[in-house]
Amino acid sequence: MQYSLDPLAYAFDALEPHIDAQTMEIHHDRHHQTYVDKLNGAIADLDIADGTPVDQLLTDLKDLIPEAKQGAVINHGGGHSNHSKFWDWIAPGGATEPTGDVAGLIESTFGGLDGLKEKFNAAAATQFGSGWAWVVKSGDSLEVTSTPNQNSPLLEGKTPILGIDVWEHAYYLKYQNKRPAYIDAFWNVVNWDAVEASFQA
Ligand code: MN
Repeated sequence: MQYSLDPLAYAFDALEPHIDAQTMEIHHDRHHQTYVDKLNGAIADLDIADGTPVDQLLTDLKDLIPEAKQGAVINHGGGHSNHSKFWDWIAPGGATEPTGDVAGLIESTFGGLDGLKEKFNAAAATQFGSGWAWVVKSGDSLEVTSTPNQNSPLLEGKTPILGIDVWEHAYYLKYQNKRPAYIDAFWNVVNWDAVEASFQA
């Protein structure tokens, strides 16, 4: 069983000026590729059924992965899963405002998009070091959370429907140490159709 990296479904410069082309190219072609390669290395001698989605390695970690390999799968399987979703959540061409059931839940849970942004931005800005901030589906409602490194919310039984990569590799070329400016810019590129699709999946 080998995982592979899909080509980015849009041009590296499609998110300019909010996320620059060089960052997108290095982030996708080198960083994401490295997670895929290291995941494949970690599971090379395991008997993982063909077609097992990477997310299942995380949701069923203890059943599928021996203890000695769990750390590598959390890091590199998480890296593969998280980035695959991230590229979809920021893909150009979708709804530019919350839509569908997610729109209703943002209203009822956070009092609207501004309320969600306030919580999410704080989670993203205060995640110490490398990690992610998330909107997760928790039962029938939404929650804002953050995780260190490449830890996926799937490890805690929560389904991510939107997330921001706050590793420095995600923003340093354009924003340097100004993580909050990158977080603000991120909202300009969120594809709300993709967020709704993650919620319904
Ligand atoms: Mn990244």
